[in-house]
Amino acid sequence: MGRVAVVDADRCKPKDCTRPCISFCPMVRGRVEAIRMDEERGLPVIVEELCSGCGICVKKCPFHALKVLNVPEELEGECVHRYGPNSFKLYRLPIPRRGLITGLIGKNGIGKTTALRILSGEVKPNLGEWSTPPSWDEVIRRFRGSLLQNYFRDLSMGRLRIIVKPQNLLDLFPDMDLKASDLMEDGGEVEEASDSKGVIEALDAADLMGKRLSTLSGGELQRVALALTISREGDVYIFDEPSSHLDVYQRIRASKAVRGLVEKGKTVILSEHDLVMLDYLSDQVCLLYGEPGVYGIVSHVHGARQGVNVYLDGYIPDENVRFRREAIKFQAASMRMRDKPLGISWPEMEFSYNGEGFTLRVHAGDVRSGEVIAVLGPNGIGKTTFIKLIAGLLPCRGVRPPTEGYRVSYKPQQIYSRFEGTAGELLSRVEVAPSLRDVAEERVIGPLGLSHLLDKRVDRLSGGELQKIAVAACILRDADIYLIDEPSAYLDVEERLTASRVIREIVEERKGYAFVVEHDLTAAHLLADAVMIFQGVPGVKGEANPPTTFGEGVNTFLKELDVTFRRDPETGRLRANKPGSRIDRIQREKGEYYAATVPQSG
Ligand code: SF4
Ligand code: SF4
Repeated sequence: MGRVAVVDADRCKPKDCTRPCISFCPMVRGRVEAIRMDEERGLPVIVEELCSGCGICVKKCPFHALKVLNVPEELEGECVHRYGPNSFKLYRLPIPRRGLITGLIGKNGIGKTTALRILSGEVKPNLGEWSTPPSWDEVIRRFRGSLLQNYFRDLSMGRLRIIVKPQNLLDLFPDMDLKASDLMEDGGEVEEASDSKGVIEALDAADLMGKRLSTLSGGELQRVALALTISREGDVYIFDEPSSHLDVYQRIRASKAVRGLVEKGKTVILSEHDLVMLDYLSDQVCLLYGEPGVYGIVSHVHGARQGVNVYLDGYIPDENVRFRREAIKFQAASMRMRDKPLGISWPEMEFSYNGEGFTLRVHAGDVRSGEVIAVLGPNGIGKTTFIKLIAGLLPCRGVRPPTEGYRVSYKPQQIYSRFEGTAGELLSRVEVAPSLRDVAEERVIGPLGLSHLLDKRVDRLSGGELQKIAVAACILRDADIYLIDEPSAYLDVEERLTASRVIREIVEERKGYAFVVEHDLTAAHLLADAVMIFQGVPGVKGEANPPTTFGEGVNTFLKELDVTFRRDPETGRLRANKPGSRIDRIQREKGEYYAATVPQSG
């Protein structure tokens, strides 16, 4: 077995401990320096070749700063990159192909962005030799016989023009005082652009081009970033999380715009957490698995449908690797009826801010006991306003809040980290439902992967970590009604599906009532009994339809999106049909934009 040891520089505090990681190491006690203090860096160094992998240092460290894991020996020759000593290690790379979209799927911290940075030329792969990096000739030699050999040869000779849409949009927009149109008109950027006007229209971004970047929302910035990336002339296009902050409508539009690139024979590589979008966009998929923050392994290439199914199954048959204990399964959410006991109903409501501007009309409806309602619709259509009306956070003239007298637990869309303390201290302030008090760790904290974050300061948490803490706090609270606005934002694919399952189980068990605003249709499918569809003109007027069954609501929704969906026969998950495909045509003829019956394979 090979060994990967990682020292987390943010967590390690040698001044606040007695360095038990070193004093308890059995190898050190036997006078073999498997771990020693690097006084210059102020961090311990684990010498992987000398370390036995016993894990004693990992257990002894009071700050959870160490990870030591075994990896198969044969992988050692396949290390592509390591940033430095005792840091994350990436094995293998995705193999992009001309005229195809290659999608990457995997948890956060598993190496997707590192792989994209290497393929973009931003990071030169060092094959694990961070202290004596190899030359381009050595790198090219390593990939002899694979498509990556030519890719790196062209890259090293400057023969590939690579256009990147980074994950962090500030990398693309360092000067937020500029207007989007300034960037589009910047000669060096888009002088060869083929159809930038068409791309801007396809992304519904025309109105955004004249505005200052600093005034745009996250979703608007993402659309500008996509327009800018797709409009530029290149050979290879890289998109790191293109769906972030976009609503479902915008996701479908963005997918169509990205697909336009491969129709021109371009090479596209992207990383995406929304499974519907990943599947719809990709021609081939690579899975990334391993241990987040420690090491990541890129799988061989799979077809898009098979790749997503293998990921959900947690087992890669051609590599004989199980990377998750349990498969993620989709119950027949779409077949669920609204047959639970009657709960809370609300009358017709109309709301406008100060009696002018945006207006929201809410049709009378009801939520059943133990029911989760997915709230679907474009951005700016009043979904959050509806949630606030239900929560009694916004006054509705002449109507008493329908939830008056009920205890409400609310997770807003925007979450801030102003709390001065640790995540554990924050969660300890939540009045936990009595039935969850003894099982909070087992039912919520553990599954959401929060156990190791409890000692971390809230203001140091990443967006995804903060989101998970907020979801946990909301669902643990002793309440009747749960209003959860965009729980999937910033979460990776697995965290989204876990959060959906946790929310659903607890609401059902506690016979509560939940409204969840969700843009990820796979997550919505996993958690919802019913859906509420919002229609109208974003920013002008919105209409909230009464809750309906999942199948009925999604059919209406997809008809408006002008895209047909079916369920995958193996996993039951939602799949978007490729436009113009045989199934797409058949479903359209029948007016069945969503086919709830799982088609039998074969
Ligand atoms: S790894 Fe842990 S035990 Fe070792 S020096 Fe750092 S904080 Fe102390
Ligand atoms: S894993 Fe065991 S042998 Fe390796 S450094 Fe830690 S304590 Fe020493």
